[in-house]
Amino acid sequence: MKPVPDHAVNRLRAWRKSISTRPFLARGGTLARCPACQLREDWCACEWRPELKAEAGFCLLMYDSEPMKPSNTGRLIADVLPDTTWAFLWSRTQPHPELLALLADPVWQPYVVFPACEKEPARLTGEVTLAPGKKPLFILLDGTWPEARKMFNMSPYLDGFPVLAIKPDALSTYGMRVANCDEHLCTAEVAACVLEVAGELQAGQALQLWFNLFSRRYMAGRVSRSPGDDEHHLQQALAFINQGGQDQLTDSAD
Ligand SMILES: [Zn+2]
Repeated sequence: MKPVPDHAVNRLRAWRKSISTRPFLARGGTLARCPACQLREDWCACEWRPELKAEAGFCLLMYDSEPMKPSNTGRLIADVLPDTTWAFLWSRTQPHPELLALLADPVWQPYVVFPACEKEPARLTGEVTLAPGKKPLFILLDGTWPEARKMFNMSPYLDGFPVLAIKPDALSTYGMRVANCDEHLCTAEVAACVLEVAGELQAGQALQLWFNLFSRRYMAGRVSRSPGDDEHHLQQALAFINQGGQDQLTDSAD
């Protein structure tokens, strides 16, 4: 087991835990989990955790207890891009001052990532077009689908930003595959897709691979079967990234 990485989501989880009045009971809460990857201890995947740098930034708005859920995949984004991922608990009326400062920082060009925007179609875009000198900051609403919709509709401080719509059926275009996450993509998969749209191919692929390895082991843990041999190619691809390899990863994202 490796040490817990010091990044925005893990710091937010520690803080959220510290203000809880009752212990958080995760599904499968009796399992001994690795404190870093949150998988069953004996299936810890930390040795394959990729860590990269990217121009793109991510701002995670997390709903209430979301940072404490072992199944949360927003954490995987911070695992891969610890230097450019921020995480805040969502509040309708009292957004964190650091969140507002981040959104106002002229270095960044914020996009709210959300599947649809029926009310204001003029805000919708399918591409990332940056003004000179700007870097993209992708705001992700991390919670269940109803929670994400609530955050989208009830955050006045996000109203001025364009909405980047990612459609699951566009994923095949980017060589990705929708995993076992109901009808909607998990937060990490959305982020992987957004990275590819923004031209950050290696970071997008690393995140998709890390998510695939995590989700396979997580799902296997829920039904108590072993992760299986079919994840060998994921481990190999992640090991390759961790050794600094690039450009040769094409068909290994599933
Ligand atoms: Zn681990």
